[in-house]
Amino acid sequence: MPGGTDQTLRPFLWRAANLYSDTEIVSRNHDGMQRYTYSEYEQRTSQLANALDEHGIEEGDRVGTFCWNHSRHFETYFGVPSIGAQLHTINPLLPDAHIQYIVDNADDQLIFVDHSLAPKLASAVADADDEFEGVDFVVMGSEESEHLEATPYESFIEGQETEYDWPDIDEEQPAGMCYTSGTTGNPKGVEYTQQMLWSHTMATLTPQGIPMADDDVVMPVVPMFHVNAWGMPFTATAGGSKHVYPGPSPEPEDIANLIENEGVTISAGVPTVWLGLMEYCSEHDVDLSTLETVIVGGSAAPKSMIEWFDDQGVEVLHAWGMTEMSPIGSVSHLKSDLRDADYETQLEKRGKQGLMVPGLEFKVIDENGEEIAWDGEEFGELWIRGPWVTKEYFKRPEANEADFEDGWLKTGDVVTVDEDGYIQIVDREKDVIKSGGEWISSVELENAVMAHDDVSEAAVVGVPHERWQERPVAFVVPGEGVERETLVSEITEMLKDDYPKWWLPDEIEFIEEVPKTATGKFSKKDIREEYADQSLVEGQVPEDAAPDQD
Ligand code: AMP
Repeated sequence: MPGGTDQTLRPFLWRAANLYSDTEIVSRNHDGMQRYTYSEYEQRTSQLANALDEHGIEEGDRVGTFCWNHSRHFETYFGVPSIGAQLHTINPLLPDAHIQYIVDNADDQLIFVDHSLAPKLASAVADADDEFEGVDFVVMGSEESEHLEATPYESFIEGQETEYDWPDIDEEQPAGMCYTSGTTGNPKGVEYTQQMLWSHTMATLTPQGIPMADDDVVMPVVPMFHVNAWGMPFTATAGGSKHVYPGPSPEPEDIANLIENEGVTISAGVPTVWLGLMEYCSEHDVDLSTLETVIVGGSAAPKSMIEWFDDQGVEVLHAWGMTEMSPIGSVSHLKSDLRDADYETQLEKRGKQGLMVPGLEFKVIDENGEEIAWDGEEFGELWIRGPWVTKEYFKRPEANEADFEDGWLKTGDVVTVDEDGYIQIVDREKDVIKSGGEWISSVELENAVMAHDDVSEAAVVGVPHERWQERPVAFVVPGEGVERETLVSEITEMLKDDYPKWWLPDEIEFIEEVPKTATGKFSKKDIREEYADQSLVEGQVPEDAAPDQD
């Protein structure tokens, strides 16, 4: 619908700024706490839009962010898409080579970067060939960066008009972009059109989604570089909620303080975040009384976590989604006829990935190409389609062929569906490891290990881990007469050159042969089964292996 202003993001901000002009946006920023109202937010967002114009950013241009969750980052969320440009949130935890690839692939014109992340970006820039050619940088704050030639954000917007004549934008115009890691090859880009973000927001606002209203205080802990913090900044704005942003590398103590001091009612994050908070609460007196709902997603929510929050009077909503779907797919609300069921039955349902939110359709296809029965036992791959599910990857025809069929996205998640329609993930077809909510490519790691002359074969698998959900372990077949200790330290040194610490395998085990499938491929399934009981426990992983600390 050319020129349409209906299914775009802008009306969400218009509503918040006009109906809830005094509602606050609070943020733990690099340079201290920042606190202002929707009204000021709109003014600063207008200043940003004017500054982007002056910088020469035009409709369709891509603007990157390399930032944690804070109010300036939130200003780009409406400021960039509402002038018709595209917000590309870059994951700063990726290896440098991936960052170089995605900046080049997306053709970013300008990148907003946090002070604390500037050294990481500067290292990717220093090693780059020409991937950053023509890219300008703005550093989030008032000060210049020691690491990167960048304009301070406050100088970038200073003196700009606090009003902006927002254009009508075609709802098919890409508004956002995020990359996701697949089994092989470089990360794949997913573009979010204005319409996708609009429909995702509207579905999330329904009672079967993750509703947010004007009496809510919403704190996304899930990073804003991760599928728009699961869309929460948009949903909270549409609902007129107060926003709370936890800032750079938030620790459990920061999260606890913000909940207490700001009266947070809804928060969201991966299980690792909540395990950290639970541990912190066991040692400190934390008042969680305002907290009503915690969204757990990205990896499976352990039942013990749901029970712990129940004991605190906080409802856990277990949610499943993907970068490819903006990202919300299912939420584990209890159906009304289960409200009288016993606690165990309820817990079982709530521990599943849940019920599809209104607007999506799914089917589950088994290995014979047939749809499975909804009996909680048969399983197959989950296929999905709907208004906020992408139809293709950005400039990646080979990935499109593998992952889409007849308008359906093939998720790579293996699920059962029970009689009530609750989906449960039982396995993953994609050969990737999710540690603390972030992907590690096992295939890339094993190729890197196999590049060592004294390694004849290597397979990397994800092993269950209490805190990070999964951690990589490398199974290596050494060459003849190789000294094992030397080999382990050489492999580790080699990997350290190219990968962030949190990608490094927690263990390197020696085996005689990598089990193979009938077609001669590595059988990760066999390795995983053999080592399934070897769950890694806290203490085996160095503290600094955390995805958020590298
Ligand atoms: P991402 O694109 O990084 O958001 O990752 C999406 C993938 O994470 C899904 O395809 C699942 O494999 C996994 N995932 C997301 N949410 C959950 C959940 N609640 N339980 C288990 N796995 C999940």
